[in-house]
Amino acid sequence: MLGHEHLQIDLSHNKGEDNVLGVDEERSIIDDLRYVVARHGLRFVADLSVPGGGRDAEALARIAQQTGLHVVCATGFYWDPVSDWVRESSLANLRDIMIREVQTGIGESGLRCGTIKVGTNHTELDAVFEKIFRAAAAASRLTGTSIITHTTKPEQATWQLDVLEDAGADLSHVLISHLHKANNFSEILAVGKRGAFIGFDQLGFKKGPTIDQVADMVVQVIAHGLGKQLILSADIARKSRLRANGGVGYETTFSECLPLLRQRHVPETQIHQIMYDNPLNVFSIRQDLIVAGDQNE
Ligand SMILES: [Zn+2]
Repeated sequence: MLGHEHLQIDLSHNKGEDNVLGVDEERSIIDDLRYVVARHGLRFVADLSVPGGGRDAEALARIAQQTGLHVVCATGFYWDPVSDWVRESSLANLRDIMIREVQTGIGESGLRCGTIKVGTNHTELDAVFEKIFRAAAAASRLTGTSIITHTTKPEQATWQLDVLEDAGADLSHVLISHLHKANNFSEILAVGKRGAFIGFDQLGFKKGPTIDQVADMVVQVIAHGLGKQLILSADIARKSRLRANGGVGYETTFSECLPLLRQRHVPETQIHQIMYDNPLNVFSIRQDLIVAGDQNE
């Protein structure tokens, strides 16, 4: 199961044209996912794109239907950039938008979100992000939905957890993304000790760390008794990473990382825990929140 991917995204406004997965890529994405379903038994993918960042729930529903996968769609707010109306909006309004997208659906589509994604590039907490994170905590508390945070630097995890906890979020349903970038293992441990999930979720990123280095960190996480809180994923968000364009695609976690864990004698039961139980636990998969896939396709 893959807990941090993108099946549709558009960050072209500041990361360039490669950072778009849209209608033109839909066929390649479906073929890529079908390949991973057939080869590795993939059953569930979380698409962590948010409104304004290329999220397309109707495309996700089509992809789910044609691959037989359960696909989770996210509501929430991302920093890239924070739009003016979000800056000016009240906390209650942001909270209610997220609650509506989880409970009623996106617009008139009837497609409901299964997780809340919030993100920041700020190292220090400011008033706008405090509002967004408090709104996310409130929406999570009222809907029973998990929260996935983006960190640009792992040190941001501290204030993110402080704010979420203070606002009443259940940290055992919070996933802090991109912690593989930590320079110091103590940053990862600190997140784990507070009960939150730890994301090593950009496997295969050119800027590193290498998958070999991440595999070493996975072994360390397990040795500290935090194997139940680890999420592995590849954060596919670029055309060039799709199989159709010569990339490893959505298979990356299975084909590039799991063999390195086996080389390091990580037991199969532990690998199963990380790849299956942990994603289900963090997203607390509620059947009614999943865009249903058609297994008979
Ligand atoms: Zn991502």
